[in-house]
Amino acid sequence: MRNHLPRILITTGPTREYFDPTRFLSNPSSGKMGWLLAQEAKAQGCPVKLIHGPLAFKVSDIPSISVTSALEMFKAVKKNFKDCDILIMSAAVCDYRPQNTNQQKIKKSASQNKILHLVPNPDILKWAGEHKENQLLVGFAAETENIIQNAQKKLIQKNLNIIIANEVGTDRAGFESEYIKFSLLEHNDTIIPIKRWRKSKLAQFLIQLILKKFHAH
Ligand code: C5P
Repeated sequence: MRNHLPRILITTGPTREYFDPTRFLSNPSSGKMGWLLAQEAKAQGCPVKLIHGPLAFKVSDIPSISVTSALEMFKAVKKNFKDCDILIMSAAVCDYRPQNTNQQKIKKSASQNKILHLVPNPDILKWAGEHKENQLLVGFAAETENIIQNAQKKLIQKNLNIIIANEVGTDRAGFESEYIKFSLLEHNDTIIPIKRWRKSKLAQFLIQLILKKFHAH
């Protein structure tokens, strides 16, 4: 039984993978979910640190580290991981990055197809699952099909305590919305079956749940 408040490390937002100085691969993640989680954790008195990709809003009042690419996010997580009790990875990390980044803007050619070679980015959460000591790990999995089964697999493969499987591409809930359609899973247990909630409601629920788990740990 631990009676101090957990130090919570949260990642949020997309990453950008540049292939020339003006162009990048990314996704429509707004970073709202992680921002709401950080605010809720702070409201509960927990020391919080936020590692975020490029966001359309200003982060203030919460210690934060701004990164651009998956590799930068990985470096920041590795640096801060041993000093946290709970890691929540709500960032939408790009799975691939361009093999090469052109120093100059790539010129267009009307008559030529272009091929972009991609290499896999490290799976940050998987690394955390392999290196965790006493930390609780929470992941988010954006899925378009077989939501619960796919998320269960990730929970095990990445050695997580909790996973939130969120359905993207339907019901206007997902990446840029105030709402999230999700299911919350623990090992062998579906805590919440498919629901559509405001992201702020999920943030409150999840912080309460992890505080309970942390104190019971
Ligand atoms: O395997 P998948 O990308 O669906 O897993 C999603 C979870 O893994 C999210 O919590 C995300 O932040 C994390 N992730 C990561 N590094 C990656 C890809 C995803 O930490 N390269």
